[in-house]
Amino acid sequence: MTAGEPAPAGAAAIIVAAGSGTRFGSPDKVLLRLAGRPMIAYALDAAERSASITAIVVVAGAHTMPAIAALIGEGHWRKVRRIVLGGERRQDSVEAGLAALDPEIDIVAVHDAARPLVSPHLFDTCIVAARAHGAAIAALPLTDTLKRVHDRLITATIPRDETWAAQTPQAARRDLLVRAYAAAHRDGLAVTDEAGLLEAVGIAVAVVEGPSTNIKITRPEDLPLAEALLALAHGHEASP
Ligand code: C5P
Repeated sequence: MTAGEPAPAGAAAIIVAAGSGTRFGSPDKVLLRLAGRPMIAYALDAAERSASITAIVVVAGAHTMPAIAALIGEGHWRKVRRIVLGGERRQDSVEAGLAALDPEIDIVAVHDAARPLVSPHLFDTCIVAARAHGAAIAALPLTDTLKRVHDRLITATIPRDETWAAQTPQAARRDLLVRAYAAAHRDGLAVTDEAGLLEAVGIAVAVVEGPSTNIKITRPEDLPLAEALLALAHGHEASP
């Protein structure tokens, strides 16, 4: 590449790890040891090994920044470009990650550090689908019937063939995410995932089927399940 020529486009992973771990009962959830390694290491490994991803931005909490910076300083993940401070809500953390992307990045895949079972292939599939459709997330068709409940009484049954559980990675064209965030500020939108923001501003989001093993570690009882799934996915050398 010569001076003045634009850099080739690339895809970035934003690994969000700035949650407070309230439901888990530990603010250091993403650093807890899982089969002998800090939880966040698995998501970083998958992003590092994904053929589509050229850069990684990590979003840490104020309380976990020193430990996460030290872990990344060990040098296992050569694609990590920046570690930035997250915000109060998940959407604030993702926005901090977006603001830290290099100019050549045109596709962004946001992933929860609390989902250690993600594979490089799932990153690649979401990114390819986002290039084709504008935005695409991993999601799992539900096997349970969903009920809307108010005051412990069912108010509606949602047809099962229409329900999918959203996972991460959630990939989108960078310009679409930037547009959605501008609208979120203008209209005061609050969402629990990026797809929610894109949908709110009328951007179509595709789903790619994610595996049922791509669980989010939310409560302490999820840990043994995640360790068993990691042992299956990575072979028994991953066991403690
Ligand atoms: O809160 P939830 O379980 O949806 O969090 C999913 C992911 O988002 C976790 O990896 C968590 O660390 C991250 N998060 C964040 N900043 C927040 C809240 C959550 O980076 N303010």
